[in-house]
Amino acid sequence: MHYFKKENEKLTCLLCSHYCKLKPNQTGICGVNKNTGSKIECLVFGYPAALNIDPIEKKPLYHVLPNTTTLSLGTVGCNFKCPFCQNHGISQEHNIDKNKHQTPEQLVQLAVSNGCQSISYTYNEPTIFYPYAKATALIAQQYGLKNIFVSNGFESKEVIDDMVGVIDAANIDLKSFDKHYYKKELGGNLDSILDNLKRFKTNGIHVEITTLIIPTKNDSDEELILMAQFIANELGVDTPWHLSAFHPDYKQQDLPRTSVDTLNRAYAIGKKAGLNFVYQGNASLPNPTCCTQCGYEILNRVTYAIEKNDLVQGNLCPKCSTPLPGVFMNTRNTSVAGTFYPDSCSEIKRYINHFNTALQNSDFNHQLDFSPKAIICPHAGYVYSGFTANIAYCIIQHIQAKRFVVIGPSHKIAFEGLSVSTQDSYQSPCGNINIDTQYANTLIEKFNFCHFNAQAHTEHSTETQMPFIQHYFPNSSIVEIVYSRSSSMNIEQIIEYALHDKDTFVIISTDLSHFHTLNEANILDNYCLEAIENLDLDSWNKGCEACGQTGVKALISYAQKHQLQSKLLDYRTSAQMTKDESSVVGYTSAVLG
Ligand code: SF4
Repeated sequence: MHYFKKENEKLTCLLCSHYCKLKPNQTGICGVNKNTGSKIECLVFGYPAALNIDPIEKKPLYHVLPNTTTLSLGTVGCNFKCPFCQNHGISQEHNIDKNKHQTPEQLVQLAVSNGCQSISYTYNEPTIFYPYAKATALIAQQYGLKNIFVSNGFESKEVIDDMVGVIDAANIDLKSFDKHYYKKELGGNLDSILDNLKRFKTNGIHVEITTLIIPTKNDSDEELILMAQFIANELGVDTPWHLSAFHPDYKQQDLPRTSVDTLNRAYAIGKKAGLNFVYQGNASLPNPTCCTQCGYEILNRVTYAIEKNDLVQGNLCPKCSTPLPGVFMNTRNTSVAGTFYPDSCSEIKRYINHFNTALQNSDFNHQLDFSPKAIICPHAGYVYSGFTANIAYCIIQHIQAKRFVVIGPSHKIAFEGLSVSTQDSYQSPCGNINIDTQYANTLIEKFNFCHFNAQAHTEHSTETQMPFIQHYFPNSSIVEIVYSRSSSMNIEQIIEYALHDKDTFVIISTDLSHFHTLNEANILDNYCLEAIENLDLDSWNKGCEACGQTGVKALISYAQKHQLQSKLLDYRTSAQMTKDESSVVGYTSAVLG
């Protein structure tokens, strides 16, 4: 979107509903957006005045990624002048501390390295720094992070429309239902805020409402009923309403704290209006969330601490499978981090650096006479097969692929066909990896042998590939496919579909023979190596044993039909590490293109 438009000699700022018309050198009501001649510049871009890691429950957001942390940032400036502002130290300040510079990339790295699942634009009014927030949000998305606005609801309609696909959730204040109070004491406009709340909803952004209940200002039954009815009728009964207790602050020192009785009265009004999710904040009260269908208590928290979280599959009631409205991450959790590969990012990097040093000191020939389309990789613990796998990733590191389709056999459960993960995000010690869910859903729609089976996605044959993908291709997304009882023809169809698109790369995961003596393993594995190197299925069928043979055969068949070439990269067995030749596992890697 354009953040300003030209009208005569003035520029109109499009960031909030004040729509300030600014002459050259003039700054808007917020104090941080300035007409610098040919444009309106957001002076706080890159300069957070507050930066913390908070529980998401503190925003407050109770229907967004429960029990996670969110990197929270705000700048100086605000488009409101609330006399009770708890962040007045920054919101009513206009001096920018230029020593605290943070690029959008640095913010995202900070969030990732601290294990945050989201970034919240909060503390002061974030719409006044929307250009900075959006630049950060777009990078955050690449790391599977959600983006959250905590706002007074006085955005411009242009900003709210621009948030689609950028901002996932918002907590918006509904501070009063009195137009006069909004205008005189807060510096806003009730009608604009009500319109904006409806706009957030119709734009598909998850909204939770917060009302700070201030004695004598907005705590009458009449006003609370109007607010509750507006939320229920215009935004929907599933919209969470947070009733927050006031304490004296800033210029509003003359009023008492909100009593628990008042909070309970407001709570009853919200429930009577039909709201399913009413919460009481700043009062150390328990705040349960119950299933709207069966009444089961799914979540509970006191203040910011989650006391109970029984959600299953991301957002479902464990008793009746009714989805809880909100934004929930259905994460593909790691299952072998800390066993097959390190559970710390620095340790993963240390392993990969070690593999590459060893590779540089070897006589390995990096020359490739073709453009890579697929690799075959082993999937044992990194101490056994990490070096072999890393060669394949190292040799393809300059390809331009945006999406990696990782296909591996199921070792834990048996099922029919192929399971394609439709989870949102893939957990990794180096920060979550984006799953291309749209692509995953397309595969399920297109191929009737594909489905999603959550249990299949605790599989190590695919998971062990992810740290390599993340290391060499940090901006890519992945699609995880685990197969059990499947024909190689079905997997070949997936490979055919994937490689039809030049942005997609295929990874076939397999180990070779298991638990033979070293001599026997070498004989058996040699059939596999010949088959892969010569793209010859007859060699394979002479006696190759591989847990991922269905996938490898599918790739060889595809390679034959498309006249691909193949290069073997490494072969070794576990004996190299264990020095025990009586029972070994074979590993190889190869590249095809
Ligand atoms: S953000 Fe709002 S208050 Fe600030 S200059 Fe733009 S329109 Fe005016």
